[in-house]
Amino acid sequence: PGCLWVVATPIGHRDDISARAVEILRAVAVIACEDTRHSRPLLVHHNIGTPLTALHEHNEREAVDALVRRLQGGESVALISDAGTPLVSDPGFRLVRAARAAGVRCTPVPGACAAIAALSVAGLPSDRFVFEGFLPPKSAARRARLQELAGEGRTLIFYESSHRVAESLADMRDVLGEAREAVLARELTKLFETVLGEPLAALAARVATDPDQQRGECVLLVHGRGDDADARVAEGRRVFAILREEMP
Ligand code: SAM
Repeated sequence: PGCLWVVATPIGHRDDISARAVEILRAVAVIACEDTRHSRPLLVHHNIGTPLTALHEHNEREAVDALVRRLQGGESVALISDAGTPLVSDPGFRLVRAARAAGVRCTPVPGACAAIAALSVAGLPSDRFVFEGFLPPKSAARRARLQELAGEGRTLIFYESSHRVAESLADMRDVLGEAREAVLARELTKLFETVLGEPLAALAARVATDPDQQRGECVLLVHGRGDDADARVAEGRRVFAILREEMP
């Protein structure tokens, strides 16, 4: 069978793609991408004339079957997404799973990933971290999810849409505490790249009052729960509030 190359593409700056990635994208029989109109300019910029085929959530089953058949027939296929690393909050999981189940070799061609790029400049502990992808869009579900994460000691990484970033920061401040350090990494590798690090109360206030911080693409990172006195006081208050509810 052919090989399924899982190729990372840029998250902004169009030259953030490896020389090996460009070579492979030129050599394969077909490139599976989310949106052919989105990917074509990048491929044109890098002189890649390979045919494209769409693979997105609405045609996934048929597209996966067709691609696995081509791989089994000996053709090589590359998988890319609109930005960054495929399968990271992006399509591709079903294709990789089906290809592996069919005995097709899957090889990564690593490169940009917004979560890792953000972590690399956030200045938050980076030895252990959790990637949470997108939080629920509605506040009640989002707060419930954050509550589950409130005791997490590792650095938290979230993707967020810019029109929800102010709301999400307000929920984080309320659920995780005003003093928790957080970082907003926005428009990485692009013209308006901004990395802001502040306690959640200050960051939520700044983003709420500055519409420029509610534009573009963003990653939110939050310090894990520290073992500091503040956290112990906050936890004490939380437990006390629960106990008070239970008391006659
Ligand atoms: N597969 C991609 C990756 O490897 O990072 C992520 C795809 S996900 C659908 C898109 C989200 O990634 C955006 O909503 C944003 O949270 C984040 N993102 C992508 N590009 C970014 C950038 N240049 N700066 C900050 N965040 C970015």
